[in-house]
Amino acid sequence: MFGPPGAGKGTQAARLLDEFNLLHIATGDILREAVQQSRPLGLKAREFMDRGELVPDDLIIPIVEEKLGLNRDKGFLFDGFPRTIPQARMLEETLGRLELEINRVVFLDTDQEVILKRLSGRRVCEQCGETYHVTNIPSKRAGMCDRCNGKLVQRDDDKEETILKRLGVYREQTEGVLGYYRDKGVLLNVDGSLSIEETYPIIRASLK
Ligand code: AMP
Repeated sequence: MFGPPGAGKGTQAARLLDEFNLLHIATGDILREAVQQSRPLGLKAREFMDRGELVPDDLIIPIVEEKLGLNRDKGFLFDGFPRTIPQARMLEETLGRLELEINRVVFLDTDQEVILKRLSGRRVCEQCGETYHVTNIPSKRAGMCDRCNGKLVQRDDDKEETILKRLGVYREQTEGVLGYYRDKGVLLNVDGSLSIEETYPIIRASLK
């Protein structure tokens, strides 16, 4: 799943995981968990995340390598990774060694106005990480997770100033990864202003 922050990568990934037998590798979720548990990775990554910058490749690459070693029977769903060309190269090399390849890169092509609306209303469960939106995907009981009754909070990096920073970082450091996959002929371009319900069948059809 590829696209700027707020494009809906995590939301669409959750639907795909319900339907397909895939191992989810979301580097943002892994980093947030490491921060919450004050693990060494979290302590190193936190300052970059708080500033809306990318965490350096030498911290990200080992996380993904470890996950790729875990399960060969399932396919993988990468969400928010790769975000730089060195990450994309490492992924290709490692998958090559496992005799696997990337079948599809789903690009949720979303403009800034839509992103700002989505991210300012985004809420996440403090306990299980489930994602909601105050108007688009409200929970049944205000402020509480439908799945585990955890408390819904705003991510620290979903404040407007940090969102604008993350969008700039996306344009400067991540957008170029698209060309890498376009050249390989695996890119699916999806209009990111469509609703969740309109988007999912398009992605699904491209994977079947
Ligand atoms: P996300 O939840 O995917 O928006 O990620 C939240 C933050 O984690 C990002 O703003 C980055 O600071 C960091 N991060 C997540 N994935 C990566 C990655 N593949 N490369 C570098 N930094 C990442």
